[in-house]
Amino acid sequence: MTWQNWAGTASSDPARRYWPRTAEAIGDAVKEAAAAGLTVRALGSGHSFTPAAATSGAALDLSGWTGVVTADPEAGLVTVRSGTTIRELNAALDALGLAMPNLGDIDAQTIAGAISTGTHGTGAGLGGIATAVTALELVLADSSVVSCSAEQRPDLFTAARVSVGALGVISSVTLSCVPAFDLAADERPMPLGEVLERFDEFAAANDHFEFYWFPYGKNALVKRNSRIREPGAGPARMPGWRQFFEYEVMENAAFGALCRTGRAVPALIKPLNRFAANTLSKRSYSATSHEVFVTPRRVRFVESEYAVPRESLLDVLAELRAAVPRLADPVMFPVEVRVAAADDIWLSTAYGRDTAYVAIHQYVGLPFQEYFRAFESITAAVGGRPHWGKMHTLDANRLGELYPRFGDFRRVRDETDPDRRFANPYLEQVLGSLWPVIPYGPYLRISP
Ligand SMILES: Cc1cc2nc3c(=O)[nH]c(=O)nc-3n(C[C@H](O)[C@H](O)[C@H](O)COP(=O)(O)OP(=O)(O)OC[C@H]3O[C@@H](n4cnc5c(N)ncnc54)[C@H](O)[C@@H]3O)c2cc1C
Repeated sequence: MTWQNWAGTASSDPARRYWPRTAEAIGDAVKEAAAAGLTVRALGSGHSFTPAAATSGAALDLSGWTGVVTADPEAGLVTVRSGTTIRELNAALDALGLAMPNLGDIDAQTIAGAISTGTHGTGAGLGGIATAVTALELVLADSSVVSCSAEQRPDLFTAARVSVGALGVISSVTLSCVPAFDLAADERPMPLGEVLERFDEFAAANDHFEFYWFPYGKNALVKRNSRIREPGAGPARMPGWRQFFEYEVMENAAFGALCRTGRAVPALIKPLNRFAANTLSKRSYSATSHEVFVTPRRVRFVESEYAVPRESLLDVLAELRAAVPRLADPVMFPVEVRVAAADDIWLSTAYGRDTAYVAIHQYVGLPFQEYFRAFESITAAVGGRPHWGKMHTLDANRLGELYPRFGDFRRVRDETDPDRRFANPYLEQVLGSLWPVIPYGPYLRISP
């Protein structure tokens, strides 16, 4: 049965599929695949745009390996099985009176898939999801089950928190959670010039700050979410009908219709884009943290995202604003800008530096190659690091220059998986290969 990712940018035909329901069954699957000479990949929810999970060997479907293993609400420590989706995790944490300190835009990913690619949300003082991990249990290439943490096998731990699945199959993840909290959300259109001028002020004053900018519009949609620290403070909750109207009707059904129109008549894309930017509306409401972080994303798109040093953000955006009007094919989707604090995870895109994330998108089926290449050359000039799960063309040579501890990561990989049981073409390209590499050519996979 063919495997395909959410965006349709990657597919593969695994020789075998396994549906393990215990850690031992994961080990047995790795052993059986090795005996048959097959490589192994763990499948998450397929939400990476890169073929990170693709395999012609053995695919381990962990969708039946979910739920909480142990929880210590006092300490805020919760261990979950690796196939647990963020949605399931949020529901389980709600029941325990806990929450993740920060999350990305959607909740469809598995916890293991999310950490493996360095999935992040926004917050100048906060790290990506992998920074909340305090311990991992992994099945290694020799099918042994090992645990790692800051105290136990610390090198493996630092490498495995963001590893694109290169070191083994994660069987469980222990997370350091915080007491459940509500967010006061403020979303409003603002002139892009003002947002850029006040960028540092907004990033400092709000726990979670981000903005969306429609490339041909003058306005950005600014999202400022902060914790409600006093009970009863913060704006009112949003009524269900308004939530449905704003997120399902406006951001999905109506925006999807605009995108389809633009794809059918590309000459309309620029005016439609301006129209979308002009119809942005203001909303202010309170809700449980994950209800604010997560929004439904039903309109399909392709995406590239680079982590750039925060101080270079304004230059990157100035170059991008200059590049977009010169593109042969217009851009339908907005640019998203987020922030994160520096961390110490070797392959984290925010390793060692306060980071701004710039994500560019195009509606699925519209040409994106020229746009993505222009963006990549802009971010290259400032040492931009690509999201491991989003489209890019960098290889191990270039990534080795961008990550100071890349050599350490490769050493741990050589020690734990000398025969490359967990290899696939994407990993060989981004981490280096024992054999000559055939680039996977991410931009060539979808026809415009
Ligand atoms: C609509 C949409 C919105 C998104 N929003 C954000 C966002 O806000 N922020 C952000 O940073 N990213 C975002 N992403 C990217 C997404 O979070 C990542 O690509 C993430 O990896 C997807 O998780 P997954 O479970 O689908 O993993 P997959 O894409 O299925 O797999 C990713 C990698 O993890 C490996 N893996 C999975 N499970 C295991 C395991 N048990 N052990 C070892 N390796 C494993 C796979 O082999 C693969 O290498 C978004 C993507 C989409 C499509």
